[in-house]
Amino acid sequence: MTDRFWETKSLDEMTQTEWESLCDGCAKCCLHKFIDDDAADAPATTNYVQQSEEIHFTSIACDLLNTKTCSCTQYARRTELVPDCVKLTKDNLKEIFFMPTSCSYRRLHEGRGLPSWHPLLNRGKKTAMHREGMSVRGKTVAEADADLDNFEEYIALWPLQDLD
Ligand code: SF4
Ligand code: SF4
Repeated sequence: MTDRFWETKSLDEMTQTEWESLCDGCAKCCLHKFIDDDAADAPATTNYVQQSEEIHFTSIACDLLNTKTCSCTQYARRTELVPDCVKLTKDNLKEIFFMPTSCSYRRLHEGRGLPSWHPLLNRGKKTAMHREGMSVRGKTVAEADADLDNFEEYIALWPLQDLD
């Protein structure tokens, strides 16, 4: 997997190994988010959103996230332990609009290629990504420390930023 397969293959054509390797490990998808739905009395937490609804990211991280390495501490059991955990596959790619704009899958889906800080372009290292501030490292609040009754107060704009 030394070639730049993401430039020659569509997402649909990729092998499972190639697909998995695309994930930059930024962990922005491990942040709590909610939708602003006019029909609802109050914002509701969600991992599913209609295209007409507005999605807000917060700085509150999933309890299972190692916020230093930006990796899941229970990766193999993540969808079992956290039912809302997003597992992006070729089959649910059409719902990709609720992933952050810097998400590799979203970038490729939208024809924007991979950014210069992506681990695949940096010998598999996350250093450039962290340095450029494109991961969640150093920016999150733990669920236990957050006032979840007022989670609107934790709305964050930084997860929406992209670079390159
Ligand atoms: S936002 Fe996308 S690229 Fe970043 S960790 Fe989540 S799935 Fe991977
Ligand atoms: S279970 Fe793991 S992969 Fe899923 S949101 Fe939590 S930390 Fe992220």
